[in-house]
Amino acid sequence: VAYIGLDVGGTNLKGARVSAEGTVQASLHEPIVRDSGERLLDQLGRAVSRLAEGDAAAAVGVGVRAIVDQRARQVRAVPNLPSLAAFANQDLGGILGTRLGRSVVIENDAKAAGLAEAWKGGGRGVQSLLYMTLGTGVGGALILDGRLWAGKSGYAGEVGHLPVDPEGLPCGCGSRGCLETIAGSFGWMRRAEAAVRRHPTSLLARRTLEPATIVDAARAGDATALDVVDGTARAIGQALGGLLNTLNLDRVVIGGGVAAAGDFLLGRVVRETRARAWPQAFADCSFRLAELGGDAGVVGAARVAMLASSAGVTA
Ligand SMILES: [Zn+2]
Repeated sequence: VAYIGLDVGGTNLKGARVSAEGTVQASLHEPIVRDSGERLLDQLGRAVSRLAEGDAAAAVGVGVRAIVDQRARQVRAVPNLPSLAAFANQDLGGILGTRLGRSVVIENDAKAAGLAEAWKGGGRGVQSLLYMTLGTGVGGALILDGRLWAGKSGYAGEVGHLPVDPEGLPCGCGSRGCLETIAGSFGWMRRAEAAVRRHPTSLLARRTLEPATIVDAARAGDATALDVVDGTARAIGQALGGLLNTLNLDRVVIGGGVAAAGDFLLGRVVRETRARAWPQAFADCSFRLAELGGDAGVVGAARVAMLASSAGVTA
């Protein structure tokens, strides 16, 4: 038995055929169709055919950058990808499933990646964990007693929209000072630009400002860059401290592109969390970096298909 996992990103489509044991047996990676919903369906169908290699029974999971309401079977709050936004408030899983003659389940991409990390990555071996992905945005997945907690309409786990700065910048969600406005990649860049204006001799003045270069400069001892990294860690620690006090989790797993900063960032996040959580809630929790890298999205989408078929859900 194999499962097909697709990850619909803002610029790329990734896909994989994944065995029931979690091994990637085949994969693909291509630019996503951006302009047309109909052509996106065509693209997803072709990807499934290629990956299935004649296995007509393989169920499909699709991770998308949107809120997915499993109860209402609808995709909501789709960001700037017109081909996907064409299916806003529709049953994309049902539409694609009918077209392909297969079971298709749609899930939020961060929730899918969190399920993958819980299964085969940094979240192995625990019952309750938070997966946080740091990229352009900040997403998350909450797994409680071994089950993904989506909440009533799929909005649970959206840790990027925890308010951490009451005077902060407006956020796309309608609030202000959300974690994403600080720890998302635009948040890093905005604070780095402001810091360079105050400290023009910083190493950052001669670099392209993005999380990776800011972390490099901080590692090299640049005080201005270190300030930016510390500000990020503080905001994340503020969010995590509150979450540990609320949920008493076993583990926090940090993933996404920014997690490539590794222990340099994670160590600071752990210190900032410790300063804010009950000592016992902090002691009960272990902190890990994600382990599946770029495969988390597709392995997680396949895992979504697997969990849905074992629960008897069909398209
Ligand atoms: Zn927000």
